[in-house]
Amino acid sequence: MADIFVKNGFILTMMGEGVGMIEDGAIAVKGNMIVAVGKTHDLEKEYGGAEFVYDASGKAVLPGFVDAHVHTSNTLIRGEGQDVPEIEWMLKTQAPFGRHTKLEHRFIGSTLGILEAVKSGTTCIGEIGGNMGPAAEKVFVPSGVRAHLANTINEIGPGSRLDPNKPYVFFRDIGERKLKESIEFIEEWNGAADGRVTCMFSPHAADMMSEEFLLQVKEEANERGMMSHIHIAQGGREAIQINLRYGTTTVRYLDDIGFLDETIIGAHCHQTTDEEVALLASKGVRYVSCPASIGIIDGITPPLALYLASGGISAGMGSDQASGNNHHNMLVEMKVAALLNKCRHTDPTVLPAWKMLRIATIEGAQTIGLGDSIGSLEPGKKADMIILDLKVPHMTPIISSPVRNIAPNIVYSARGDEVETVIIDGKVVVDDQKALTLDEEKVIEEAQKAAVEICTAAVDDYMAADSQLARAAKKGLL
Ligand SMILES: [Zn+2]
Repeated sequence: MADIFVKNGFILTMMGEGVGMIEDGAIAVKGNMIVAVGKTHDLEKEYGGAEFVYDASGKAVLPGFVDAHVHTSNTLIRGEGQDVPEIEWMLKTQAPFGRHTKLEHRFIGSTLGILEAVKSGTTCIGEIGGNMGPAAEKVFVPSGVRAHLANTINEIGPGSRLDPNKPYVFFRDIGERKLKESIEFIEEWNGAADGRVTCMFSPHAADMMSEEFLLQVKEEANERGMMSHIHIAQGGREAIQINLRYGTTTVRYLDDIGFLDETIIGAHCHQTTDEEVALLASKGVRYVSCPASIGIIDGITPPLALYLASGGISAGMGSDQASGNNHHNMLVEMKVAALLNKCRHTDPTVLPAWKMLRIATIEGAQTIGLGDSIGSLEPGKKADMIILDLKVPHMTPIISSPVRNIAPNIVYSARGDEVETVIIDGKVVVDDQKALTLDEEKVIEEAQKAAVEICTAAVDDYMAADSQLARAAKKGLL
């Protein structure tokens, strides 16, 4: 007997090289585990009497998406950081709001981001930020999402970054405190909520900490058999800093100090030459690409296809933050990633839909070290899965054999509202498009109120910073 039985669907298992589709397929779940995957007629007799039975006729069943690099705590400044020169993004659009954002605001923003993500099919969020212990307790665990969390570690404090054209001032005591907090967080939370919470180290970026301290953080991670998730070559601000301090580029610097290996998860990596991407790949660095966010913030297509073509071992994707790409929606992210990379390489065969689905599921899970437990639909894995309705105008027609259009339609047409059911760790978190663990109306109401509080408090700083966006707003252009 099973607890959940999903039947009659197009099951995209992600087994094998492609999406591993089973037509008229079924999945049985017991507790938080998948116990059987196969043809409906083979499984129905044994599992058909499950407590919850979902008829997935005309629907696709996929592993839930792994959003591998996210800052949901920034969700309340959605739409308030784009269309500015990259050098202005952090200092003139993010910082003014950041100074007036309270911890409680960040939790409200995270809750909103998680709600958006889960409703559009994300089951695992790789969140990086501050105060992860309280965030895990107040936000991530109650939301029901699978969370892979890290406290950001850097040596940045007040007054560190007054002038982007001078070396940032580092504060070792701040770094040591953040490292200590990170270790305490990992000791308390790794494996919590029946394994639904896992943790990692996150040294912020090469321009945010000294060489000695960066290597110290990596060593702390390695001693515990854990990986380090770090922003690498994330744009012009970092490039200026690394050049000022070390007279080279980020990737060359990290290679010179022996930082690059298979325990490193590099996010972004877009301020790079083709040779540097090949170097990252050859060192075994794992890659998380955030194409929509980087496209909007930097005007650059991150090298996802190039990294894979260079022999990179494992790549995933992230929605990054609402003040960049404006969403936490992996269905949208897949299309943007495919499109931007096709254009970067002027080659429409780059990153086909089936590959995008793998990067958003099994390969993303492998990249962040969770590939043994999630990312595909097979017995013995955690029951993280989503059901998408294909019988809507923009997903029609459904053609499955021998011509196939389901994977391309999910990547190129889906927008999130096809996601009917979301199951995480064996629990139904979204049913018939309704979130069960979060009160959607309340989440939106609180987010609206908190965002207005932040904007009201930050308005003078924001306008005084005089970003291109602030000037456009003053003129009434948007
Ligand atoms: Zn980031």
